[in-house]
Formats: sequence, structure tokens, C-alpha cells
Amino acid sequence: MILGIDIGGTTIKIGLIDNNKIVRKYTIKTNSETIIDDLIKSFVINKINVNQIDAIGCALPGFIDHKNGVVTLSGNLGYKNYQFKKIFEEKLKKPVFVVNDANAAALGEYWVGAGSKYDSTILYTLGTGLGGGIIINNQLVFGSSGYAGELGHGGNFQNERNCTCGLSNCLEPFASATGIEKSLKEFLGKDISLKDSVELFLKNDSNVINAFTKSLTPLANHIAIMETSLNPDCIIIGGGPSNIGKPLADFIKKLVDKSQLGFISNKTPILIATTRNDAGILGAAYWAITESTKLV
Ligand SMILES: [Zn+2]
Repeated sequence: MILGIDIGGTTIKIGLIDNNKIVRKYTIKTNSETIIDDLIKSFVINKINVNQIDAIGCALPGFIDHKNGVVTLSGNLGYKNYQFKKIFEEKLKKPVFVVNDANAAALGEYWVGAGSKYDSTILYTLGTGLGGGIIINNQLVFGSSGYAGELGHGGNFQNERNCTCGLSNCLEPFASATGIEKSLKEFLGKDISLKDSVELFLKNDSNVINAFTKSLTPLANHIAIMETSLNPDCIIIGGGPSNIGKPLADFIKKLVDKSQLGFISNKTPILIATTRNDAGILGAAYWAITESTKLV
């Protein structure tokens, strides 16, 4: 059995995985100073028999040295060059594998979610920020320094909103869930949550449609570039806005069609993530499964 652990800034989700399925899951609060000890205590409280665990996968936010299991930098958790794998393995005497949380979500979708039929898939997660993961020919792409999949940053996708990363023209301030809510406020003249905007979106309310068009046109441009750069089998959209479901995927597809060659666009479906809150747990577990087999 495998433990898949998704470590977020406020909550840690733990899933026990047997035969590619989550058979038990629970959450604990994140205290970044005591994560490993808190996890080990939680195994005892939740009667997880560590002797039956073959490997543990952990998804963490931030820049990760996947090979050595070191958290190079995590603003959310306050880690800098933290030897997560080494410390956890020493305390638990089990193999531990560490992966970036957005990459884990992409692996989860690739393994058992919307991308499970495909070899090459690109995930965009629209949350507080905008993260992603790239899987090409059944391999997670890390790139030279491990930053592959940081789809929210760099480039010149808009000229209005500064990004949290320090650049001025990133995709994230427009197409993240936070960015869409900002656009909704601009067009509706008042604060409205994404959740409350869904009904209006589905009724084609012109202000809401304009807000979504403003926020998601840069995303569509980004998708078009990725389609011609890497030729994935599909694009998957996750995060809060994906709760709208297929109408959102269709909406994004129409925007992509405006800036893409028809024969590419028609062969690259835009899908909604299906593993939802479990994506990180599943992806972390899948990472542990694939990496531990390399040890044998
Ligand atoms: Zn940025």
C-alpha cells in the first residue's frame, strides 16, 4: 500500500492507496515547523499500519529538487533547502518521494483522472495562483532546473495587473480564480464570488461573459502556444472555476479556436479535471509508485 500526502499551506490531506484507489483518507492542519512529526503522529491516531506501507509520496508547494527530495524554496511553508525526504525517511524508515503539488495534480489526472486515456497531457490549475503540470509521452516534464509547469508566469499575456512573482505581464493575475474574480468585479461593479457567478455565466449574462472573456483570453493564448509547442493529446482545466464543468471547457475551447490552427485545435480536447480535491493525493501516490520501482 502507498500513502499519498498533499501538503498545502493550511491543510494536509493524507490518503491510503491500495490497487490504484484511495481506500481511506483524512486531513490534519498544517504546522510547517512540525509537519513530519505531525504526520507520524497522525498515522498512529488513524491506525495506519506503517509496516504495510511500501512507499510514501508527498506533494508540496514550491520549487522542489525531485531527485534528492529537497524543498529548495517554499514561500507557503517557509522552507529553504529543507531536506524533506531525508528527514522523513530517517524518522519513518520507509522510502519517501517528493513532488511539486501542481505537478502532482497533473500526475493524478494523468493516472486516474481526465487524462487517463492519454499519453501526453497539460494541466492548468486555476486557484489562488495558476499552476500546472506537463506530461509528455508518459513522462512528467521537469526541464533543466525543475520549473517546467510554472505556466502562470513569464511572457506578455496582459498589460494591466502586476503578478505576485514580481513580473508585470503574467497569465496568473488574469486567469487564476483570484484573477477571474477581479475581472468579475470590474464588469459587475461589485464583489461577486466565482461560485455566485456560475448561474449568471450559464445564463450568458453579458457582464459575466465579458469578465470571463477578459480573464480567459490570455489563458487560451497560452494553451494555443503549448499545443503547437508540445502537441499534447489533451488540455485539462482544474481548480475552483472547473466546478462550472463542461460549459467552461467549451468556453475556453472557443477562445482557443480564435488563435489556433483548426486541425490542431480540433484534435486537442479541453477537458475538466475529474479527481478534484484528490488530485494531489493521487499524484503524490503515483509519483511514489513510479519512483520506488526505479529503486528495485
Ligand atoms: Zn508571475
